Formats: sequence, C-alpha cells, structure tokens
Amino acid sequence: QPTNFYRPTFAQIDLNAIKMNILNLKKHISHSVEVIAVVKANAYGHGDLEVSKTALEAGVSMLAVATPDEAIRLRKNGIESPILVLGASSPSFANVASEHDITVTVFQKDWFLHIPPLPKKLKVHIKIDTGMGRLGITTESELDMLIQTIQQRQDVIIDGVFTHFATADEEDINHFSNQLTKFKLFLQHFPKRPRCIHAANSAASLIHMDSLFDAVRFGISMYGLLPSEHVKKELPFPLVQAMSLHTEVVHVKKVCAGSSVSYGAIYTASENEWIATLPIGYADGMLRGLSGQEVLIQGKRMPIVGKICMDQCMVRLPEQVNIGERVTLIGRQGTEQVTIEEWAQKLQTISYEIPCVLTSRVPRTYT
Ligand code: PLP
Repeated sequence: QPTNFYRPTFAQIDLNAIKMNILNLKKHISHSVEVIAVVKANAYGHGDLEVSKTALEAGVSMLAVATPDEAIRLRKNGIESPILVLGASSPSFANVASEHDITVTVFQKDWFLHIPPLPKKLKVHIKIDTGMGRLGITTESELDMLIQTIQQRQDVIIDGVFTHFATADEEDINHFSNQLTKFKLFLQHFPKRPRCIHAANSAASLIHMDSLFDAVRFGISMYGLLPSEHVKKELPFPLVQAMSLHTEVVHVKKVCAGSSVSYGAIYTASENEWIATLPIGYADGMLRGLSGQEVLIQGKRMPIVGKICMDQCMVRLPEQVNIGERVTLIGRQGTEQVTIEEWAQKLQTISYEIPCVLTSRVPRTYT
C-alpha cells in the first residue's frame, strides 16, 4: 500500500507485466530482431524512468521517445542505453544530441544547413514516409539528396532508417503491404546498409512477421494493451495489462428517492439509494464521458452516477460500505475486471489515449 501521498487515489504499474510482454515478444520474433521500447509520453503514462529500466533489464536494445526533452530527461536520470527521438528535432538540438549520444530522426537535407561541425559524432535515423503522411522523405530523389548531404559530413553517422505503418492493426492489409513494398524500394538507395532498419510497431511485430527487419518499435503492447480489436483475434501470446487504477470511498450516504446527485442535477435516485463519493475526477484523467462506467467495490461492479466533477465522482451502491473501502477503477477485484479497453470503448476512443490522459496528480506506484 503506497504511503507517500495523502489522497488514496493512485495508479499501480506492474513492472513484471511489462517485462513479461517484452520477453514474450522476444520469443515470438526471431532472436536476431532487436526490440526498441517506445517510452514516449512518460511511457504512455506509465512512468518513463521505471519503464525504461525494466525494458532494458528485459533485453531491449534501444529506447524511443517523441521529443528531445524526453530524451534529455532519460539521460539526466542515468539512462545510458541508445535513445532515438522519433519526432522532429530542431537543428539547434544537434549539438546537445551529439554531446549526450542521443540519436535523432532526420528527413530534410536542409536540416543540416545551419549545423556547425559537431564536437562528437551525431547518429541519425532517416525517416521514410511510405504512407503515414506525417513525417519523412516521400520521394526517392529527396532521399538520394539527403544521403549525399550526410555523406559530405564527417560528423554524422546514418545509424538507421525507418518508416511507420498507418494500418498495421487493421484486417485489410492493402495499405500496409503498399507501405512495406515502398519501404523496400527506398532501402535500395542506401550505398551502405545502415546498422538498424526498422518499421514494425506493436501491431506489425505481433501479426506481420514479414515486416520485422533489424528491430521492432514496441509501444502499446509492451504495456499489455491491444493496438486494436483485429489484433486481438490474431494475438500470438496473451498480453498482461500493466496499469491499474485505484482509490477509496471517502464518503457514504443514503439518499432519498427523488434526490439528485452532482452538477446539473441530472441523476435522480429512483428509490432510496446508497451513494459513495470517490476522490477522483476529470482533473485526474477520469474524463466526464466516463459517467455511467462501472467501478469495482468488494469484487462487484457499481455504476458512476451523475456528472463527473473535477476532483470527485459518485457511485451507486447496492448496500452501505465502509469509508476507506478499496475501489478499483481499472484492474481486477476477484473474478471481475475493468480493462483500459473497456474505458476506451466507453469514451469512443483507442486504448492508447487512456493511460496518457491520466494526469500527474495521480501518483504512479510500482510493483
Ligand atoms: N513508432 C512510431 C514512429 C510511433 O509514433 C509509435 C507510436 O505511436 C510507435 C512506433 C509505437 O507504436 P505502438 O504503440 O502502436 O506499438
């Protein structure tokens, strides 16, 4: 039980689950394929430092983040492994990146225009846009010019090349196959094969064994979450969900039939009802769209009633419970389970969004 905070609301991260998901993936892909752990956005809300350390212990060869600042934070906290910044870095970051041995993603020859000679070698991965339409080189001539520009510099090493799939988690493989074919075409333009060619995200590394190359970028499923319902049908091993979310009942009362609960007075008790107040609200990431979602108390499902407030919400109980009773909002109690996917469905979004929007007010505890 965590003790370093006074409100009983916390997310619990099972680092062993993260380890298991990586080890199972490593068994599933060939030994020669490396795993890059995607720990951007505070490790999808799970805690970047703790997840990075666990992933490295489980044998990943590199960490990937989205921004330069995320990479610097890892370095400043003693993480010495290779780190790739997946997003766009400003040219002004080049010097710092070389100093801290942080690998950056490049996709514009002009990016190098204003970078003076660097004191240490800068490792880059070239990003090819094969159909995601987000970042990357889109034509073969652009790639040739970028490679030439880099070759003219003594201080830059092309360590890798990669692309990102837009539909690897979908049943229809048409767009995915076109991206893969295009990527292979672009690869032929490299006079020297870069050390690390990578393309697959979680979905591709789980279900598209023809897209593995030298490494896979393992994000959502490292946290035990499904990229999509389609991937669930073809899952090669069970994923273990790492995050659970808990709080405690802080107030219980019996309301009379006809009384209302919360802002707008939109929920009215149809009979005399027991109502519990929970200390978690939308400022914690318990979004207002979750009104009606069930939580677990004493191993049973109970619905959130009325509007979710900024810091609190209310739940209808079948009978009185004690103040301090454990409430599981995401996770297991006995045989019942509320999954992140269930929240995603309720909010009409994807599993990725749920742990990312749990705010920093919710302490993360680790087991
Ligand atoms: N690679 C890139 C470039 C990404 O942007 C992401 C995440 O969005 C990933 C890999 C990891 O994808 P996933 O979380 O689906 O495994």
